[in-house]
This record gives sequence, C-alpha cells and structure tokens, in this order.
Amino acid sequence: MSEVLLDVKGLKKYFTTKRGLLHAVDDVTFTIEKGKTLGVVGESGCGKSTTGRAILRLLEPTGGQVLFEGEDVAKLNAAQLRAKRKEMQIIFQDPFSSLNPRRTVSQTIEEPLKLHNVYPNEQERTQKVLEIMETVGLAERYVNTYPHELDGGRRQRIGIARALALDPKFIVCDEPVSALDVSIQAQILNLMGEIQEQRGLTYMFITHDLSVVNHFSDDIAVMYLGRLIEKAPSEVLFSNPVHPYTQALLSAIPIPKVGGKKDRILLKGEITSPINPEPICRFANRCQYATDRCRSEEPQLREIESGHFVACFLTE
Ligand code: SF4
Repeated sequence: MSEVLLDVKGLKKYFTTKRGLLHAVDDVTFTIEKGKTLGVVGESGCGKSTTGRAILRLLEPTGGQVLFEGEDVAKLNAAQLRAKRKEMQIIFQDPFSSLNPRRTVSQTIEEPLKLHNVYPNEQERTQKVLEIMETVGLAERYVNTYPHELDGGRRQRIGIARALALDPKFIVCDEPVSALDVSIQAQILNLMGEIQEQRGLTYMFITHDLSVVNHFSDDIAVMYLGRLIEKAPSEVLFSNPVHPYTQALLSAIPIPKVGGKKDRILLKGEITSPINPEPICRFANRCQYATDRCRSEEPQLREIESGHFVACFLTE
C-alpha cells in the first residue's frame, strides 16, 4: 500500500501589506505519497511557490499543518528544523541567481555537507562531491569552474546536485526548467526522473507550464489566487478537467500534431484581489458559469471521484 510522505492540512500564508492582509496561500490541503510527484500549477501569483516555501519553512506559515512522515514541521524548533532540512530540499527556478558566483562547482555542492557536518573527512567529502556530480551528469573537469563559465543546463545541474548532496527524501522543484531553453528542459526533466527512480525521491514540482508537468507528475494540483481548486491523478486531470479554471488552462496548451486544434477558452473579467478577499469563489469574476451563489459563498474542495478533488459548486 502507498505511504503518505507529506500531509499538508489547511496551510495558510498571509502577508501584511499597506492595503491589508494578502492571502497568498489560503487553506491549502493535499498529500503526496512516497516516491511520487505532485505537479502544482497555476498562473503567476497563485501562491504555488509560496506554498512550496511555507512547506519547507523558508517562509513561516500563518496557519495549518505540514506533516512530514507524520511529524509537524511547523512545530520544530530551530535545531530540529535544521536537522529536518537534510530531508527536505529545494531546487530554484533561476540557477544563475541561486548560485553564489564566487563559489566553484565543488564548493557549492560541498557547502550543505559542511553545514550539516556530513562527511567531516575532507577526502571522503571530495569523493561524495564527485559522486553527486556524476549522478547529475557533470563531468569531473568542471569541479573548479564557476557558475558564469557554464551554460544554463549545467548550472541547473549544479542546483540539482546541491539539493541532492544530503540525500533528501523530498524536493520542492520550483519552476526548475522555466529559465532553460526548450532543448535543455527535456534533458533536465529526464535527469530528474532518473534520479527520482534511483533514489525513490518524492517531488513537489511547481510550474506555470501544464505541458511540462503532464508527463512528469503522478498527480496535479491546480491553484488559483491562493486556493487549491482541483487535484487529480495526472491522466484524469488531462482527460476530465472539471473546474472551469482548469479547463481554461488546459485549453491553452498547444496540440503538438499537424492539424491539431482545440477551442481555447479565453478568460475575461477582472482578477479578484487576494487582499482581504471575501468568502466567495475567487474565480467568479472570470467564470462563465458564475451564479449568485458563487458570489456569496466560497466553494470547498471535495472529492467527486476517487482521488479527484474539485472546489466548484457545479460539481454538486
Ligand atoms: Fe465558476 Fe461558481 Fe464554480 Fe466558481 S464556484 S468556478 S464561479 S461555477
């Protein structure tokens, strides 16, 4: 039977702004099973990256629970959190800005090993760095090179190597291929898939690009203005999207075959403000099916078939 690695319950992250409380992540609930990938998609500003950072406590959650192997990450003190970070890592979107330009490849990869005092013996540490480089397809000759001397693909391989250094169980991949050329994207995705298989890793794969997560994710969660509005196994979400926002997102993916054609759903209407939002459907202003109820009540996520969750009154 599959085992849940990450259980996120009612996660909230609010930011105080001059205009009020910005609900970046609002009552988000989902699980990820061991060894699986959850793709998290949505437009820029929907709260997907903030969710990833709040799970790792790179941002302190405002509320909710993050249970990692049953242990509430939000309750860990600084020392416990530091130890837990060995198991929960992140790969950032822009490899160039996330790497220290004054550190060589080996210095970057060995940094977490030193920080956590893993492999205190220098020779063993160097050996470990070389092993990780080999895992991510970085030739040994790059060991003393600096990020600016490498192309985008190799730089992202360093980012992946750094995340793998402590042998984590879970990695938040925050738009890991968005800054790369399309030809390099496929190489990095293949590499991440191979590493996941070899190590039994669990991924939360954040992207604005649904076509990227399609082949990569076991399940997909769709976010809109801080809310999780649909979650389903990948093939179910692609064959039977139920939430009107998911349908619009999918309609925008180009069909890669000659003569392929589908009707794109164009979203009109003003985007609701995430600052002090009213308890109504946040998609109502842009939804062609909106009724009075949608403008006076907030739909909750509910399971409409096994593993398929939707927050929309149309499903009732
Ligand atoms: Fe549209 Fe209403 Fe469903 Fe919201 S709850 S997505 S407004 S139909």
